[in-house]
Amino acid sequence: MTLSDEFLARQGDELAALKTRLTEELAFYKEASAPVTLDQAQVGRLSRIDAIGQQEMHKAAAVQTEQRLRRVVVALRKLESGDYGWCDQCDEAIEPKRLEAQPEVIFCLRCQGASEAQ
Ligand SMILES: [Zn+2]
Repeated sequence: MTLSDEFLARQGDELAALKTRLTEELAFYKEASAPVTLDQAQVGRLSRIDAIGQQEMHKAAAVQTEQRLRRVVVALRKLESGDYGWCDQCDEAIEPKRLEAQPEVIFCLRCQGASEAQ
């Protein structure tokens, strides 16, 4: 099975847009999860806990976003080298529907399942 040039061009556009968006999101989350100095006089105890909780959430979001961004970069590289759409693990074709839903996918369903089970 070969992916059409049209399909690949569309995936390339999607990935480029995704890369821009994730880069911005990552910068936001990183800034939001940076240690903040809270004004003791103005911030009550509850809102302090709130702020710390949010900071943790943003930290987790930053990690997830960074991981996704890394996959996007790998997918873009595969697109350039002509390996896009082929599983990084077993070299089988990845289902086009899967690629449409998640253009940064680099593993076929079977290998993805195997790596998640680990
Ligand atoms: Zn595979």
